[in-house]
Amino acid sequence: MGKVGETTLILDLSALEHNYNYLRSQIKPETKFLGVVKAFAYGSDMVTIAQKLEQLGADYLAVAYVNEGVLLRNAGVKTPILVLHPLVSNFEEMIDRCLEPSLYSKHILNQFVKVAKAKQQSNYPVHIKFNTGLNRLGFAEDDVDFIAKATQHSGCIKIVSTFSHLAASEDSNERDFSLKQINSFKNLSSKLIEALGYPLIRHMLNTSGIINYPEAQFEMVRSGIGLYGYGNEAEVDAQLKPVATLKTIISQIHQIEAHESVGYNRAFKSHQPIKSATLPIGHADGIGRQYGKGRGSVIINGKKAPILGNVCMDMIMVDVTGIDCKEGDEAIVFGPEKSAEKFAATANTISYEILTAISQRVKRVVVHQ
Ligand SMILES: *Cc1c(COP(=O)(O)O)cnc(C)c1O
Repeated sequence: MGKVGETTLILDLSALEHNYNYLRSQIKPETKFLGVVKAFAYGSDMVTIAQKLEQLGADYLAVAYVNEGVLLRNAGVKTPILVLHPLVSNFEEMIDRCLEPSLYSKHILNQFVKVAKAKQQSNYPVHIKFNTGLNRLGFAEDDVDFIAKATQHSGCIKIVSTFSHLAASEDSNERDFSLKQINSFKNLSSKLIEALGYPLIRHMLNTSGIINYPEAQFEMVRSGIGLYGYGNEAEVDAQLKPVATLKTIISQIHQIEAHESVGYNRAFKSHQPIKSATLPIGHADGIGRQYGKGRGSVIINGKKAPILGNVCMDMIMVDVTGIDCKEGDEAIVFGPEKSAEKFAATANTISYEILTAISQRVKRVVVHQ
């Protein structure tokens, strides 16, 4: 992968391709595939990932907010883009940039119709989201007639898909709940399709849904974390390849004597002589304070080096006692050698959080190996 000279997030597009092909192999050839690239493509590089997914043949892309979709359009991405969480203040820009809203409430639908009318649209593509138990965003069962009537009367929007989202697709203890959600979505989407009189693309599954509920793939699936190489369980992780590797280097090495301390608030106090290494990565780069005090660690020359004391804004100090290393040597925070899921677990969180936390200050390097 090559040596880095500063903190770098290396993005391996061949890993993305591998993950895409693996996820596609889990669904029927005719099922459409939506790649979720919200939050800078889970903290990586949204434009690069979206362009690669476009090239691989993804049918749809999804972002959370309109400004994310605008960045993709500015970069020339042509694939249809679903905006999962549009807000009324963004509707004009959404139409100007051909971004397709998820309509999730009466208020949002009415407001969108108003703007689409004012902008003299006809058959503007929209997506209807149902709430089947996550209780986050989505229409209720009782809203089906409203949705169909409002769409027909509007004359300016056309529903292309309907979807819902599982609350616990990765949790086998919640299998009954997930099956209930799937069943409820099946009924709701049938009702809507019947009321409209034309077919819709139906989609419900995220990455863990694809793995655990393949019978509910309907006409499309939506995958995010799986594309980036994580599957919420060890057996799935084993089939996937992490796209992102976070590396940094040793800036300085200190000999710390017994009874000395390291870092702010003297949070680490040494009981014996140790060797510490200072790395140019801190909470401003996405390594939260919760990784400090020995919880998180990095890998230096194949060995584990735990974080000493508090995480600083721009630096961490790690324990390299007994590790053969020198200033300028590489430190791996996560990647194929140590998964982001494992690193995240040391701070009681999940891969999704650590991946999306890597700040824009960190240099991105794209490789294809
Ligand atoms: C983020 C998101 C996804 C992707 O979920 P993964 O677990 O990352 O595959 C799918 N659908 C919706 C509605 C989302 O918000």
